[in-house]
Amino acid sequence: MRYGVFGDIHSNLAAFRAVLDGLRTQNVEQYLCLGDIVGYGADARECVEIVRDLDPLIVAGNHDWAVAGKLGLEYFNTQAQAAIVWTRRELDAESIEWLGSLELRQVSGDVTLSHGTVHEPAAFQYMQTPYDAYLSFQELSTRTAFVGHSHIPVSFFDGMPITYSVDKRIEFGDRIAIANPGSVGQPRDEDPRASYAVYDSDERVLEIHRVEYDIGATIGRILRAGLPVLLGERLRIGR
Ligand code: ZN
Repeated sequence: MRYGVFGDIHSNLAAFRAVLDGLRTQNVEQYLCLGDIVGYGADARECVEIVRDLDPLIVAGNHDWAVAGKLGLEYFNTQAQAAIVWTRRELDAESIEWLGSLELRQVSGDVTLSHGTVHEPAAFQYMQTPYDAYLSFQELSTRTAFVGHSHIPVSFFDGMPITYSVDKRIEFGDRIAIANPGSVGQPRDEDPRASYAVYDSDERVLEIHRVEYDIGATIGRILRAGLPVLLGERLRIGR
C-alpha cells in the first residue's frame, strides 16, 4: 500500500494545495492525516473542507481539539491562543464538532497514528528524543507509526540503542519505526517549504518531499485576517 502522509496543515491553504498537487503524482492509495488541520493560518474553513473530502485515516491535533473546546487555551502561547479564538469564529458549528470528534490514536493494518506521542496521545507531547521514542515503542503494536506535532521530519527506530534519521529517503527494512513527515503549513526545521511523506508499506520505504508555495501571499492573508504578525513572519524562515 502506498500512503500519502501529512499533518500540521495549520490553515495554510497554499501550502496544503502544493502538497496535494505533489501527492497526486505519487500513486497514493490512502491518505494519513496527523492532525492540526487548523490553528496559526488564515484558511481554516477551506483546509477543514479539503481534509474532510479526502477522507483520510486521521487523528486530532492539539489545535483541533482546542478549537472544539476539548483542550484549554492555557496550553498555548498567546499567538496560538489568538489563532484558536479566531478559528472558532471562522468555522461553522458542524466543522467545529467534527474537529472535536477526531480520535487521538488510530490503528489500521500495520500503521499507528498519533499527533504527539504514541504512548500518551492526550498529553500532546513532542517526540524529539530517542527517549520519547523509547516510551512510544513500548506501547506500539504495529511495525510503523506516524506522528506530527514537532513539525520536524525525523524517523526513530526501535533497538538498543534507539537510532534516528533525517534522510529524505529511508528504508525501514525490518525495523520498527516511528516517523514524522514534517509540517505542511508551518515547517520548523529552517526549510520553509511545505513537507509531506509517501510511505510504501510493501517496500517499507519512506520518502520525505518538500514543495514550494507562495509564502508572501500566505503572510498577506494572515495579516489581513488580523492574526498575529509573527505567525506570518515565521513561515519565511521555517521556524
Ligand atoms: Zn502543529
